[in-house]
Amino acid sequence: MNTAYLSLGSNLGNRFEMLQDAVRMLQEKPNLKVTQISSVYETDPIGYTEQATFLNIVVEIQSYLSAEKILLICLDTEQTLGRIREFRWGPRCIDLDILLYNDENIESEKLTVPHPRLHERGFVLVPLMELVPQGIHPLTGVSFSEYAEGQKEGVHVWKTIDGVDAFVRLES
Ligand code: ATP
Ligand code: MG
Ligand code: MG
Repeated sequence: MNTAYLSLGSNLGNRFEMLQDAVRMLQEKPNLKVTQISSVYETDPIGYTEQATFLNIVVEIQSYLSAEKILLICLDTEQTLGRIREFRWGPRCIDLDILLYNDENIESEKLTVPHPRLHERGFVLVPLMELVPQGIHPLTGVSFSEYAEGQKEGVHVWKTIDGVDAFVRLES
């Protein structure tokens, strides 16, 4: 069994519903279980800042699938929910990224794990730390909480969540 952490974000359309739909789609996949979910955070855009604020979550999944298969599921979920890539780091109705896959280091043309920008993003680190408070970066050995220092600005709890099942049933 493999444990992976995914980052989900949306800043277009009904952001909360997008996150819910994405988690529901993950739940419906055979051979994959969504086992933990963070609070929902509202976060300021970084990089290209002239765009709307995001809602972000991190989920834990357990699966016998390979990281490559999980990436395909992420990309397929984005497509089904209507993601259009206009420009890099621009607005998106949904983004699903693989943050971690066990403690593995994967570097292929299509996939880099741990996610190469994981440690420099408050919108990823803060929700991830809810699920793995003692977590450390598998390549550097630095704790996520240490990386998160100084990167919490613009990352605020938007809604607290009482488990995966409650999350997908919430009124949006
Ligand atoms: P960022 O990677 O900075 O978060 P992004 O999520 O907006 O940017 P996308 O347009 O969603 O980037 O993804 C572009 C490509 O990145 C995907 O098609 C995928 O092949 C590749 N990729 C590499 N590593 C990962 C990963 N860990 N998770 C998701 N996609 C990845
Ligand atoms: Mg991304
Ligand atoms: Mg992505």
